[in-house]
Amino acid sequence: MDTQVIVVGAGPAGMMLAGELRLAGVDVVVLEKLVRRTGESRGLGFTARTMEVFDQRGLLSRFGEIEVSDQGHFGGLPVDFAVLDGAHQAAKTIPQSHTETVLEEWVTELGADIRRGHELLSVKDTGDRVEAEVRGPDATYRLTAPWLVGCDGGRSLVRKSVGFDFPGTAATMEMFLADVKGLDLAPRMIGETLPGGMVMVGPLPGGITRLIVCERGTPPRRREVPPSYDEVAAAWKRLTGDDISHGEPVWVSSFGDATRQVTRYRQGRVLLAGDSAHIHLPAGGQGMNTSIQDAVNLGWKLAAVVLGRTGEALLDTYHDERHPVGQRLLMNTRAQGLLFLSGAEVQPLRDVFTELIRYEPVGRHLAAMVSGLEIRYDIAAGAHPLLGRRMPHLDLTGSTGPGSSTEALHGGRGVLLDLADNAVLRRRAAGWTDRVDVVTAAPKTLPDDGSLNGTAAVLVRPDGHVAWAAPGSHSDLPTALERWFGPAR
Ligand SMILES: Cc1cc2nc3c(=O)[nH]c(=O)nc-3n(C[C@H](O)[C@H](O)[C@H](O)COP(=O)(O)OP(=O)(O)OC[C@H]3O[C@@H](n4cnc5c(N)ncnc54)[C@H](O)[C@@H]3O)c2cc1C
Repeated sequence: MDTQVIVVGAGPAGMMLAGELRLAGVDVVVLEKLVRRTGESRGLGFTARTMEVFDQRGLLSRFGEIEVSDQGHFGGLPVDFAVLDGAHQAAKTIPQSHTETVLEEWVTELGADIRRGHELLSVKDTGDRVEAEVRGPDATYRLTAPWLVGCDGGRSLVRKSVGFDFPGTAATMEMFLADVKGLDLAPRMIGETLPGGMVMVGPLPGGITRLIVCERGTPPRRREVPPSYDEVAAAWKRLTGDDISHGEPVWVSSFGDATRQVTRYRQGRVLLAGDSAHIHLPAGGQGMNTSIQDAVNLGWKLAAVVLGRTGEALLDTYHDERHPVGQRLLMNTRAQGLLFLSGAEVQPLRDVFTELIRYEPVGRHLAAMVSGLEIRYDIAAGAHPLLGRRMPHLDLTGSTGPGSSTEALHGGRGVLLDLADNAVLRRRAAGWTDRVDVVTAAPKTLPDDGSLNGTAAVLVRPDGHVAWAAPGSHSDLPTALERWFGPAR
C-alpha cells in the first residue's frame, strides 16, 4: 500500500488529524484540492476547550499573542463564560486561516505528506484496503491505504462516494458574510435582532469589519459564484436603514442553515471527521472547534489500530463518543437559530430565556455546552467525578519530567499520573510504558471543585480525557489500560 492513512482535506479537521497521526508515527498523505490557502476565514477564534487541546500539544505559543474573552452569547443573548472552570478562556478574533496555517506548519514539521492541488475524485473500500482516485497537477493517479478519513468539509465527496447516510433538514434561508474595509460601524459582537432579521458586526485586524447579514425570507440558493457586495449592502439597508455601499469588500460569501449529521462516523475502512460528518448554522462559533476535537478523538485511536496495538473495536468508540457531541451541536445551533433569526412571534421566548440566563446554573450550562467543556464521554462505569471528563490542568511538583498534567500530553501518548508515588501501581503499568508515560509527581494545588480530592492516580487518554482514576485501589488499572491501549507488551 502507498501509505497507512489517507486524509482528504487540509482544513482544521484534516490538519489536526494528520498531526495526531504523525505524533504516533503513522504515515499520512493529506490530499487537498486547493493549490494554496485562500486566506478566507469563516471561523474567528476558538473555544476554551480548543485552547486546552492546543495547549495539550504545546501549540499555543505558535499563535503569538492570543487575545482572550470570557464574554459570549447563546442565540444573541449574552452569556458570561467566566463562570466556567478551566485554565483557559476562549480565543478572540484569530482568523481561521491563521489557525490552519499554524496547524499546517506543525504537521509539516512532523513529516506528513501534504499534497496541495490533489483532488480526490472517488473512493472505493475493497474490504482490505481503500483505493482513492486522485487528480494531481499532472495526471490522475490511484492511491491505496488501509484507512481513509474524509475531512473534506460540508459537501464531502468522501461522504457521498461511500454512501454515508446524512439525514437532517435542508437550508431554509441564505445569509451573507462580508469582510469590508472603509466602514465605521458600531460593533454588534453578539448580533442585533431586527424586525427583518439579524446583523452582526465585529472588528478584524487591518481595519476590516466582519459583517453577518441574515434577512428573513431570503430563499436558500446554491451559488456557483459568491454574492456581490451590492447584494449585501442592499440587504443591510433593508434591515438597518443604513447605507454601507461605499465599503470596499475584501471577501463576500454566503451560507445557510442546513442541519445534518451522518448516522455513522465509520463505514468499513472509511471514517469522517469535521464538517463532512455534521453541518449546521454557524451559531456560537462551534463548527471548527468541534471538527478539531473530532480529529483529536480519532487520531490516537486510528493510530493504535494502524500500528496493530489494538483491534478495530477501539474505532467504534470514536462514533460512540463523537456522534452524541455532534447531536448536541446540531440541537444547540438549531435552538440558537430559532432565538436569533425568528420573528416577533419568538420574542416572548427570547424574553423568558433572557430572564433564565441570568440564573448562574443556566448561564453555566449554556456556556459549558457552547465551549465544549461539558463533554463527558461514556468511558466506564465508576464513581469518580472525572471519569470521561477532560483532565483538569494540574501544576506538578516533584516530577522529573513534565511540569504539568497538560505538558505531560504534549507527545500525544497516554499518561498515567501517579500522584502518590506508588511502586505497585507503576509495576502494574509496566507492560504499557511503550504507549503510556508514567509520571510520578504531586499536584501543587488541587482543583477547587474537589474533583481530585483523595485521588491517588489518574489514567489520561491522549485526547486529554480521563479513562480511569483511583482513590487508592488500583487492581482494575490493567483492565483500563488494555481497553484503551491494547494488550500489555
Ligand atoms: C459564516 C461562518 C462563520 C463561521 N464561524 C465559525 C467560528 O467562529 N468558529 C467555529 O468554530 N466555526 C465557524 N464556522 C464553521 C467552520 O468554518 C467549519 O466548521 C470548519 O471549517 C470545518 O472544518 P473542516 O476541516 O471539517 O472542513 P473545511 O474547513 O471545509 O475543510 C475541508 C477541506 O477539504 C478540501 N476538499 C474538499 N473536497 C476535496 C476533495 N475532493 N479533494 C481534496 N480536498 C478536498 C477543501 O478544499 C478544504 O480545504 C463558520 C462557518 C461559517 C459558514
